[in-house]
Amino acid sequence: MNLPARGGCHCGALRYEIDAEPIDSGYCHCTDCRKTTGAPALAWATVPTDAFRFLKGTPKTYRSSSTGERLFCGDCGAQILFRETPDPIYVDINIATLDVPEAITPDYHIFFAHRIPWFDTQDNLPRFAAREPTA
Ligand SMILES: [Zn+2]
Ligand SMILES: [Zn+2]
Repeated sequence: MNLPARGGCHCGALRYEIDAEPIDSGYCHCTDCRKTTGAPALAWATVPTDAFRFLKGTPKTYRSSSTGERLFCGDCGAQILFRETPDPIYVDINIATLDVPEAITPDYHIFFAHRIPWFDTQDNLPRFAAREPTA
């Protein structure tokens, strides 16, 4: 992909860039991702925290679980990223908020057992019932 890669929320209040290739990417079907995005699944890409920065605006933060929080636009509601707390080494950006989202392709599905039954994608990617196994 071309770096830095830029993205932002729908209304333009938040703009960001990443300046490193993602080390991981996939779809998450968990309830937290669904309920915080309002979408049937979330496609994310993991980059080092140091490789991500906001160029414009200040996001709102929502703690979605005991171990993580989501940053989103307080004006239009678009969720930009997920990070584990309190001191994340990596952040997960929401691929759909990139200006060129096709630059990153998801590699697998997690929490597939939690998906909405009518929702699936046409691919042969690995589908993990919960988290991906760690190597
Ligand atoms: Zn916005
Ligand atoms: Zn999730």
